Amino acid sequence: MKKRLLAASAACLLSAVPSRAWGPLGHKAVADVAESWLSESTRERVRELLGGSLSDVSNCADNVMFARDPFPCAGFTLDPAAFAGTKPWHYIGIPIGTTDLSDMKALCKNGKDCVVAAIKAQTAVLKDPSPHVTKLQRQSALMLLVHLMGDVHQPFHAIDDGDWGGNAKKLTFKGAAKNLHMLWDDLVMVEDWKEQATWDAKPLVEALERPLDPSSAAPRSYRDVGEQAAAESFVIAKDIVYPAYARSQALDQAYQEQMQPIVGRRLTQAGLRLAFALESIFLRYDQARLSSAAPVRNAAAERALGMICPAALRP
Ligand SMILES: [Zn+2]
Repeated sequence: MKKRLLAASAACLLSAVPSRAWGPLGHKAVADVAESWLSESTRERVRELLGGSLSDVSNCADNVMFARDPFPCAGFTLDPAAFAGTKPWHYIGIPIGTTDLSDMKALCKNGKDCVVAAIKAQTAVLKDPSPHVTKLQRQSALMLLVHLMGDVHQPFHAIDDGDWGGNAKKLTFKGAAKNLHMLWDDLVMVEDWKEQATWDAKPLVEALERPLDPSSAAPRSYRDVGEQAAAESFVIAKDIVYPAYARSQALDQAYQEQMQPIVGRRLTQAGLRLAFALESIFLRYDQARLSSAAPVRNAAAERALGMICPAALRP
């Protein structure tokens, strides 16, 4: 029997949706990286809850924003009306002139309608063992968490220059007309999200498997991984991507070679952080089991995981 996921809000869905965040390929890659790091017990808990993999549900939260009628996604039936209030949960539009990032709640719409707060809220739902949290609510929360952990690592989901997070910045990339936000959603490739949606994420994930440079996650200024990721995204967009756009709006191979390592690092960080969040949620984090389950990981990768997953959050 199909399952119907319900969320609390029933606000109108038909307002403009400026972006999808990472396209389908990016979200599947984040989910696959996370899944590769999960302990066996947590992977089993995920499958019990979802009836499938993290990758299966990784794009449902975006797809439901573009639907008008209930539709199937990864074995669930999603009702767009039930998810209408979730649109602001995909980003935090920090004004580009902001110099103090220490209080993310103050930068969050209504203090709660942004990706940082949504990650906290969905994590809290999943951690709540009380019987008043239904299985459907937990399924919905996990579906959202998998997706939003990817979104918060997309640089243009944490900044705004009065341009809809880069959507109003037009450009050409290898001759293809795009905008800045779209280019990054498309992982700095010519192919757009529709074409990328048909691709297998496995080759991309294998290319991301190299151990993450621990310095890429430092300094660790926030206790919460969502806040940390949002601050990093803001700085990447402000200090690297917007200045490059100011220099040229006709982008080419050199731009791709400069920016794709950043894309890869963000997808990897998102996957590792998602894995850690899930281990923490399911209270099954076990370093020894993690190591034995993933023997190819080396000391550098373990240090990276430690740096991007604050020790204070470990169970
Ligand atoms: Zn999204």
